[in-house]
Amino acid sequence: MSAKRDYYEVLGVKKSATPDEVKKAFRALALKYHPDKNPDNPEAEAKFKEAGEAYEVLSDANKRKLYDNYGHAGLENQGFTPPEDIFGQFQDLFSEFFGGGFAQGGGRRGGGGGGRGGAQSKRPMQGRELRTQVQLTLRDAVYGVKRDVNVVYAAVCTGCEGSGAEKGSAPVACGTCKGRGQVAHGGMGFMVSMPCSDCGGSGQVIGKPCKDCRGRGEVRAEKKVKVSIPAGIDHGQAIRVPGHGDAGVNGGPPGNLLVVIEVAPNEQFERHGQDLVTEVPVSFTTAALGGSVEIKNLDDSPVRFDIAPGTQPNTAVTVRNLGVPYVDGTGRGNLVGVVRVEVPKKVNAAQKKLLVELAHAFGEKPAE
Ligand SMILES: [Zn+2]
Ligand SMILES: [Zn+2]
Repeated sequence: MSAKRDYYEVLGVKKSATPDEVKKAFRALALKYHPDKNPDNPEAEAKFKEAGEAYEVLSDANKRKLYDNYGHAGLENQGFTPPEDIFGQFQDLFSEFFGGGFAQGGGRRGGGGGGRGGAQSKRPMQGRELRTQVQLTLRDAVYGVKRDVNVVYAAVCTGCEGSGAEKGSAPVACGTCKGRGQVAHGGMGFMVSMPCSDCGGSGQVIGKPCKDCRGRGEVRAEKKVKVSIPAGIDHGQAIRVPGHGDAGVNGGPPGNLLVVIEVAPNEQFERHGQDLVTEVPVSFTTAALGGSVEIKNLDDSPVRFDIAPGTQPNTAVTVRNLGVPYVDGTGRGNLVGVVRVEVPKKVNAAQKKLLVELAHAFGEKPAE
């Protein structure tokens, strides 16, 4: 994911800006970069979208709070995706900005640009990206796993093949724009024409909506998607599965599925970058004399740590290349053991005799 600009910077407002100031700043940018005023200018379009996204967040008290506290990541964690269809998303707002007298009574169809077929333009569009979360154990994240993920997605309605119109019915001219597909908005000395929100710019609306999908052209469907999760994936990372998002519109390609990974904490092992860190219990005699200690690694395979004579508590002992693999397969980190020196809670008579002797050798006066 590319680095995003700060939303306040995008709109050119202070962090303390009032909702009204946010709105004013967006309005100015939207007017400046509106594609109707900058035809065939991808840079202006990008600026326009960026401003729209910033406004979407900063105009919403909850989203703004999330963003203030956690930045872009905070929004992503809450499943916020920037609107793809910026016109659909802001149609109402534009109507308001570009002169109240032109506000269209009908409202928009499809709830946030989700409609298809007759209510949208005929341009093929890629389906929307879907986002889902998958919870993994640390072990699955480190060694990789295959998971079936349940996805609820928009499928093309088979009853109308996505047109939204009942079979055999014909589309009729849109009443709002009289079939032109564009409506004029004016005010403050300029005029712009915008795609008609009632027909999505196509100039036609459905005469008789399809019964299966109520004219939307799409139905909710569920499927299982097999997702290969690569060894070494970390909490918060995501896997993009091409073609498993919502179906495309007007014959466009399907969207992608974004699988966001959550890794549950493990009681014995912690991930530090590419290293796995765990405690290694070492008896006080082995710590003093040196030796080796065997424990089970995260995958239950036995692993042996060399303990040097005189090893102190909390010393880190390392076995190379038994840590977390790099997702791109270019090697792996280390297994790091933190020495926990264990003192016996109980000793038998023979052991006690030896210990007392040892204490005396150290010049101590043990309890006997
Ligand atoms: Zn249908
Ligand atoms: Zn229309």
